[in-house]
Amino acid sequence: MDAQLSIDDPYTEIRDAVHQLCAGYSAEYWRELDKARRYPTEFVQALNESGYLAVLIPEQYGGSGLDLGAACAILEEIQKSGGNGGACHAQMYTMGTLLRHGSEAQKSRYLPRIAAGELRLQAFGVTEPGSGSDTTRIRTRAQRQGNHYVINGQKIFISRAEHSDLMILLARTTPRDQAEKRTGGLSVFLVDLRKAVGNGITIRPIDTMMNHASTEVFFEDLKVPAENLIGEEGEGFKYILDGMNAERILIAAECIGDARWFIEKAANYASEREVFGRPIGANQGVQFPIARAYAQTEAAALMVTKAAALFDARERCGAEANMAKLLASEASWFAGDTCIQTFGGYGFATEYDVERKFREACLYRVAPVSTNLILSHIGTHVLGMPKSF
Ligand SMILES: Cc1cc2nc3c(=O)[nH]c(=O)nc-3n(C[C@H](O)[C@H](O)[C@H](O)COP(=O)(O)OP(=O)(O)OC[C@H]3O[C@@H](n4cnc5c(N)ncnc54)[C@H](O)[C@@H]3O)c2cc1C
Repeated sequence: MDAQLSIDDPYTEIRDAVHQLCAGYSAEYWRELDKARRYPTEFVQALNESGYLAVLIPEQYGGSGLDLGAACAILEEIQKSGGNGGACHAQMYTMGTLLRHGSEAQKSRYLPRIAAGELRLQAFGVTEPGSGSDTTRIRTRAQRQGNHYVINGQKIFISRAEHSDLMILLARTTPRDQAEKRTGGLSVFLVDLRKAVGNGITIRPIDTMMNHASTEVFFEDLKVPAENLIGEEGEGFKYILDGMNAERILIAAECIGDARWFIEKAANYASEREVFGRPIGANQGVQFPIARAYAQTEAAALMVTKAAALFDARERCGAEANMAKLLASEASWFAGDTCIQTFGGYGFATEYDVERKFREACLYRVAPVSTNLILSHIGTHVLGMPKSF
């Protein structure tokens, strides 16, 4: 590994600034949104205005040209403050697909407006009901007809589609059985949702256990200009994988933020709450799980830092991105469960926010890739054991 890990945190300024911004969005704000299943429009707008959602966009396109480590610091701070970056994190990683594989014309047309907050690129359309984790089996089909592609099919669990102007979409341009390899024949499109909704796209919200603005998206003879194809036709799987590493690392950073929120809450409550005449945190049965959660979180955070450093150095980082997501999502899950145990009955009362954060943290052991699929990646790609599928 060429990328060197430093023990100094280079992002303290950015962390402080994000912390201050988040202080303007109280626990009550997030609680009310959760109850009403409302999108945090004001919060996302404030992040846009402060330039935080454009940190990865190069300066020549109006962003601040910072690295993935900086983006991780931003998302971690949002989660640590009690908020939920899931409302807007996609702009950071989907933008990378456009930046790394888009044409100059596409980049100069869209990136400056995304950086300025005029266009929202928050939707990433990969998952389908019939393919699940096996992305190569997606069936949404894009067929070239003159200067357009005509798209038919269905996506599921597409977050934020109703709050996005653009979607990065993965579709099949060559049927799987006719492609040279199973990962071939997939292509990536930039879909302008403003024009498409009602003209080939129907979006239906899915109610989930947390406030995540998830939707089903139906495509019926949607016409997408051929100029909106990103990169080369048939090479889309490669482009998406690139973005998926960034996605896994950024979401891992969010999990670290969640874990830190749970640990701080639990440690404070355990020190204050007195039962049997002493603080519950004096009991090792309460104290040790919190200490263990802290140790697990610190270890996972190191893997997130390593994965981001490799990504920023443009080194191979698939294994590290996966391990960061695995370890961080398990650390936040354990910290969340520990926090609920520490709070006892109060952990279930919405006014303490623990149950809301716990519901939100649950997602990341399943999405954007499940723990089993990560273990399979490590078992087969890293350790060379035989594959089961
Ligand atoms: C709230 C939410 C938001 C989401 N947002 C988006 C989004 O914006 N865009 C998008 O494209 N997708 C999104 N997703 C989809 C998400 O990425 C998938 O749910 C996830 O990848 C798992 O796919 P699946 O649900 O089809 O599960 P399945 O693939 O059906 O898997 C179900 C279970 O079986 C296990 N399993 C499957 N195959 C194997 C195997 N071979 N070996 C061992 N275990 C296996 C899995 O680990 C999992 O535990 C979102 C999901 C949720 C819940």
